[in-house]
Amino acid sequence: MHDYRENDAIVKVLGDDDRLYSLIARGIRKIASKNAGKVQPFQYVRFFIDYQEQRTMHALRTADLIQSFRSLKEDLLKQAIAAVLCECMEKSEPQNDSFPYFLSVLTQLEQTNQPYLILSLFFAHMNREIGIEPFVDGCAGCGRSDLLCGISLQQGGFVCQGCYHERDQQYDKNDLQSFRILCKANLTHVSLLETTQSWNYEHFSMIYRFFAEYSGIPIRSVRFLTHLASL
Ligand SMILES: [Zn+2]
Repeated sequence: MHDYRENDAIVKVLGDDDRLYSLIARGIRKIASKNAGKVQPFQYVRFFIDYQEQRTMHALRTADLIQSFRSLKEDLLKQAIAAVLCECMEKSEPQNDSFPYFLSVLTQLEQTNQPYLILSLFFAHMNREIGIEPFVDGCAGCGRSDLLCGISLQQGGFVCQGCYHERDQQYDKNDLQSFRILCKANLTHVSLLETTQSWNYEHFSMIYRFFAEYSGIPIRSVRFLTHLASL
C-alpha cells in the first residue's frame, strides 16, 4: 500500500488470474473508512473494483476479507519476512500460478515454526523462475563432485578447492548440503525440512545473495530483516 493524495492510497494487489493490479482506495486513510481494516498488507481479500480495460489503475469500491493471516501479523519476524515476500512479488513479473503459489507461501509462513525456511524456499523458487539458480550438482567451475569447499557468486554455484577463489564464500559440508537442499526443494517439502534442522538467517542469505546479484530486483525491506536478525 502506497500513500496517494490526502486520505487515499494505491493498493497493489496480486489477482487470482496471476496479474498485478493497482487499485486506488479513496478515503482509506480516514478513520471512518469501511475498507481500511480489510485493505492491509498480507491479506487475502475479495475486491470489488471499477475495472477499466484501458487504465492501469482501477478504483476500489468495497472489499471482503477472506483470510487475515492474523497470527502472522502478531509475530515480528514473520511480519518482516512477509514484507520481503510481498515486495518481491510486487516488483517481479508475475508467472503462471503466482497467485496460488503465493497464497501457499503466506499460509505456510503463518503456520511454521521455521520462518527462514519458508523465506529461503521462496527465493530458491524465484531464482529458478528467473533462471539464475546456482549450480549445486558439482563444482560450477570444473564439474567435479568431490573436494567441494565453497559457494561462488561469480562462478554460479558450488566450487571445489581447485576452483575456489578468495572472493568466494567458504562453507563446510553441512552448510553446502543445506544450501543444496534449499535450491532443490519446494513448498511440498516444508513439513519434512522443518524436522531435519534449524534454518536461520544465514541459510536465507546464502540463497538471497544470488537473487540480489543477478535478478536486478532491489528489495528494500530486506534491510529491516537483516537488522532484526542481528539483534
Ligand atoms: Zn572445480
